[in-house]
Amino acid sequence: LTTGVLISQMLVDPLGIILRWYDELQVAQVSLARLVGVRDIEPDAGDASVTPKGREVLADDVHFGYRSGVDVLREVSLAVEPGSRVALVGPSGAGKSTLGRLLAGIYGPRTGRITLGGAELSDMPAEEVRAHVALVNQEHHVFVGSLRDNLLLARTGARDAELWAALGAVDAADWARALDEGLETEVGSGGFALTPAQAQQIALARLVLADPHTLVLDEATSLLDPRAARHLERSLARVLDGRTVVAIAHRLHTAHDADVIAVVENGRISELGGHDQLVAADGAYAALWRSWHG
Ligand code: ATP
Repeated sequence: LTTGVLISQMLVDPLGIILRWYDELQVAQVSLARLVGVRDIEPDAGDASVTPKGREVLADDVHFGYRSGVDVLREVSLAVEPGSRVALVGPSGAGKSTLGRLLAGIYGPRTGRITLGGAELSDMPAEEVRAHVALVNQEHHVFVGSLRDNLLLARTGARDAELWAALGAVDAADWARALDEGLETEVGSGGFALTPAQAQQIALARLVLADPHTLVLDEATSLLDPRAARHLERSLARVLDGRTVVAIAHRLHTAHDADVIAVVENGRISELGGHDQLVAADGAYAALWRSWHG
């Protein structure tokens, strides 16, 4: 990236560009924790004896801010039952993505607790958190190294058959088999130029290999063309199947089909319930639903 592009992108998307830039600098030997971003907690922090005794993710009276004195989340409590679909909805800037990052253990709360199976995420080693919960977004996390290196990050020691199965599960096996050097093909900067959709398929294949039971899905606005987006959505649906999903909903049907909808407004959860219940309550969700329809 030229300096000018870098600076202009940093103004638009500071966290994203730093993460991508950071990725480019990494060699393949990065820990699993790196897959989804940078924790504000030391990578080596955490107590290996702290392990979850279940799969429920709970936020308990959480307060969080990126800068001291400016809370982005306040008094947030939320229970994510194993196997359920939870949708976070609300106006832009309300704190949905931030809550998603906390539920995935990317950041720790300022006060309050985020627990998985009774254990606090911020007390667990990042590797332990990553084995159970992953954040899925549209940032391209392709590292310098071969396609094999990029996949092995998610499960060290996986056999080739497992790597191909993961690529197959996300509809990437056909193009990967067509590469001259197959799994040895260099990807990342300077290597084979992956399309954005292929980069996302690699990220999804890593998820299949890492096999976390809970996913936090930040749908964000798609950077892909509609055909690639539809194709990727089918792969994603397969990856989501059978897992607990917290979706930051930017689209109507995600919220409509969720078991629990949490409306986030100004850093707080203002409404919680199923679609029919919240429409009947005629509050903020009902207004959002009407505006989406309109
Ligand atoms: P959107 O629907 O637009 O994605 P959102 O509900 O997900 O919005 P967040 O992205 O969580 O909201 O942002 C909540 C607040 O935190 C906003 O004021 C935003 O500017 C701020 N914020 C988000 N990310 C960062 C960051 N990395 N550093 C500093 N402030 C941030």
